[in-house]
Amino acid sequence: MSLARNLLLRASRSPFLARQLRERRFFQRAVRRFMPGETLDAALDATATFAKFGIGSVLTELGEQVTSRAEAEAVREHYAGVLERIRKRELPAHVSVKLTHLGLEADRAACLRDVLKLAERAAAARSFLWIDMEESRYVDATLDVYRRAKAEWRNVGVCLQAYLRRTAADLDSLFPLAPAIRLVKGAYNEPASLAFPRKRDVDEHYFNLAVRLLTEAARQRAKPVFGTHDLTLIQTIRGAAAAQRLDAAAYEFHLLYGIRAEEQRRLVAEGATVRVLISYGSAWFAWYMRRLAERPANVWFVLRNLV
Ligand SMILES: Cc1cc2nc3c(=O)[nH]c(=O)nc-3n(C[C@H](O)[C@H](O)[C@H](O)COP(=O)(O)OP(=O)(O)OC[C@H]3O[C@@H](n4cnc5c(N)ncnc54)[C@H](O)[C@@H]3O)c2cc1C
Repeated sequence: MSLARNLLLRASRSPFLARQLRERRFFQRAVRRFMPGETLDAALDATATFAKFGIGSVLTELGEQVTSRAEAEAVREHYAGVLERIRKRELPAHVSVKLTHLGLEADRAACLRDVLKLAERAAAARSFLWIDMEESRYVDATLDVYRRAKAEWRNVGVCLQAYLRRTAADLDSLFPLAPAIRLVKGAYNEPASLAFPRKRDVDEHYFNLAVRLLTEAARQRAKPVFGTHDLTLIQTIRGAAAAQRLDAAAYEFHLLYGIRAEEQRRLVAEGATVRVLISYGSAWFAWYMRRLAERPANVWFVLRNLV
């Protein structure tokens, strides 16, 4: 892992830096590149704009590591409200939640109940509930919640990270559920014993997992979503899907708001199914530092906002 990436990921966990930088105007200006605004209204309006271009959305309120049950319940109610707004405005939007934002660490059983409630609300809104994947210490708990939720609701998906050595085995164990999987490379700081340290190995693992997902999709045993901005990978995946004679609706590409905007539209024009993940809320520090770590050159963008 590069030194810059390592430092940025460490910084993402610093409450001191979060306090220092969140109030700085130049930092707030720089973060705007990755989110349409802090409010839900800004995210919903961006969703409506993307819809005009045939691009769906996935909405997520920034926040993680909630340890009080009351706070977790407020997060659940917030997302229930989001799904209600999606239903009323008939927007082509999914939602994506972090289980530690829904209090996974405070009370796992309550967190599962919240996920089940949100899956029910998502079904009523003709939407879909995605579960993010966080640090490796949460993978078992996250997959456990996912398995239970998927047993009751069809419209639930989970994220898997290609950088983790365990992911191929996790994917195999999920196939009997006909899972919806958002495959990403992985955004956290993990030891080499758990995650491939070399980018080349992560990319290769990603492609192998993608092919397995497409093969299962061809048998209607999986709904794959590829969460990546890696254009080479996207083209290779499209080629592999065409070789399987998969319909473009059988799999999707999800990209983050503000990254590769032109390619998002080009992919749609070429017949691919594309969604943009739109983050909003005020708790953006840790999340933004992870975006910088993915491409340390983005730090220059922050510095440019200083002048
Ligand atoms: C929809 C979606 C959901 C995600 N959910 C999760 C999750 O639940 N858990 C998790 O661990 N990770 C998640 N991630 C993040 C993911 O793990 C990667 O860290 C991130 O997507 C960067 O990897 P990449 O696949 O784009 O490939 P890379 O090889 O890192 O990047 C490919 C190219 O994309 C461009 N690019 C990538 N990142 C950026 C950036 N931040 N700014 C500007 N350009 C960039 C660069 O030009 C780069 O050369 C998600 C990503 C997406 C798109």
